[in-house]
Amino acid sequence: MTNNETLVLKGEMTEVLRLMKKTFYSNEEIFLRELINNASNALDKIQFEGIMNNNVLNDELIITLIPHKVNKTLSIIDNGIGMTKMDLVDHLGIGFYSTYLVAKKVFLTSKHNDHDQYTLESQPSASFIVTKDINAQKLLRGTKITLFLKDNQLEYLQETTIKNLISKHCQLITHPIYLWSENNKDHWQLINIWLRNQEMYDKFVAQKLGNHLPDDLAFSILFKLPLKSLKRYGCLHKSWAILLENSNFMELFRINFISNQHSYYEDTSLLLCLGQPDKSSLFSLSGMSFQNIEKEIWSKRHCSRYFTVGSSSINGILCLYPYNSGTIYLWNPSSDEFKIIPPSPIEYIPDSMDPMFQYHGFGYDCARDDYKVIRELIIFPSVLTEDDSDYEEWHITESWEIYSLRSNCWRKLKSDIYINSRCEVNDRFYLEGMCHWLGNWQESYDEFKKTYVVSFDLSNEEWFITPLPPIDIPLEIYDNFDINLVENHLFLLNGSISLISNYYETTTFSISILAEIGKKETWTKLVTLGPLPYLPCPIGIGNMSNILFRTIDGKLAWLDLRTHLVEKLDVNAHGIVCQLIVYKGNLFPTKGINSKFFSCFSLSGL
Ligand code: ADP
Repeated sequence: MTNNETLVLKGEMTEVLRLMKKTFYSNEEIFLRELINNASNALDKIQFEGIMNNNVLNDELIITLIPHKVNKTLSIIDNGIGMTKMDLVDHLGIGFYSTYLVAKKVFLTSKHNDHDQYTLESQPSASFIVTKDINAQKLLRGTKITLFLKDNQLEYLQETTIKNLISKHCQLITHPIYLWSENNKDHWQLINIWLRNQEMYDKFVAQKLGNHLPDDLAFSILFKLPLKSLKRYGCLHKSWAILLENSNFMELFRINFISNQHSYYEDTSLLLCLGQPDKSSLFSLSGMSFQNIEKEIWSKRHCSRYFTVGSSSINGILCLYPYNSGTIYLWNPSSDEFKIIPPSPIEYIPDSMDPMFQYHGFGYDCARDDYKVIRELIIFPSVLTEDDSDYEEWHITESWEIYSLRSNCWRKLKSDIYINSRCEVNDRFYLEGMCHWLGNWQESYDEFKKTYVVSFDLSNEEWFITPLPPIDIPLEIYDNFDINLVENHLFLLNGSISLISNYYETTTFSISILAEIGKKETWTKLVTLGPLPYLPCPIGIGNMSNILFRTIDGKLAWLDLRTHLVEKLDVNAHGIVCQLIVYKGNLFPTKGINSKFFSCFSLSGL
């Protein structure tokens, strides 16, 4: 066989084409739906293959659309399963031919994981040439179709036309569709925004799985899913709901949850911030060894103790705040670029008042392509003396502020939740568009202090509170058990909101994870650890199912959740506030276009 193979459309196919043109004479737009459905099916197939073979897919599965006004071409690209030569020769059908409603010529490139890259080029006669592709730009995997539009069909290069068609015809597509846009500074726009509705998304995925899979196969796939999806699928399919009650299934889920490193942690490293009374130092942690990171910004600000807002970087950026008052920064440790966050107007308050800020969240608002910081402002009269011990008498004003990097200013934030913040530097993190932290609330003095997870959605500025799960500690062994002495820590564990609880000065810890914020019943117990006599205080969770603890003698130690082995680190943390930071160069879709998508946030440009 030669590298080239010319395919002549069979008689009936030419007839189909003729009929199609006639039928869809004024409805050519269906071509886009057909191509996007094909791309989406190809993404489903590679996703399914990944789950079945237990492969982690390193790239986000997406569809991209690139209108090129000068060349008059529209390209539809997916990183799905790709097509083999056989597929190209034998399988292309009506969906593909619908491109002829708008295109005079079509060029297709496809790469299947186990095969060479092929191209298919349409010819003026009803034929195609299929070629082993040795010249063209290599696709890692997937298919790119470029339509050379007819001169009377150039409207399909318009952004609004494409967006309208996607909302009209592609509501069921569960993979992100990005459109290249000339007008947009960062060029890529997510155009099927309804994807942000998790409920809708899960419903479709469950339908897709449910319609295709026998129960035993579903079983072996389901326990590998995130808890959130599992709970939702349980609601959607009766036979799957029963699984959630099944202790064997849940045991498999727990083991899998702990032992499989979540894709969130790929390409991450760990930073350790040690806040001595006069100065914070930052280290990069690898195994047992430490490296002091004396970057410009960090070393220049040695006059104060700095911590990061949250326990991870966002797209390589950390938000640094001073323990007392002072400047806050956005900082990219790899490039050492930084940006000073300006003070808010409210910081110029009268001298008689003492402002205090508590930084609760730093995160990314994907609806507006923006980075945001939220904080609580607490104002005390500065005349307050030690004698003013009657808390009730203090005049304290609390309000919330949000900073947006795009607008580079703070503004007041509406909040009607009455939960007191805790002064912890840990216990807070950003996850998927939301910032989470722990807060306390005591209705009245004779009531117990209750702790809640407070969550704030950076895009729509909605607040949520989630009560903690019932205490899972054997109470009977303690005399005079006092519920106020239960200690709670909120961390991100393998991509889930997790709560580590223990009873004051005891070292038996219980870990639960939360499937859905606002829904107390979706807390799921993961493990009970201990007693761990040397490890009284958890500091943070690393990137390999390991928890960093402060030991009883003031050192640090890792506890591996998979093996329960303890590894001591030679770091003196006695009396020092410690913070563990998961540093990820690129928290968002990392490959190809997506790095461009976020490059506008290079801090020097702002
Ligand atoms: P039909 O309308 O008969 O499905 P299509 O031309 O739309 O015809 O697609 C035929 C087959 O080609 C699909 O069933 C699929 O196997 C393959 N195919 C089409 N587009 C893609 C794509 N983007 N990625 C992988 N395979 C594809």
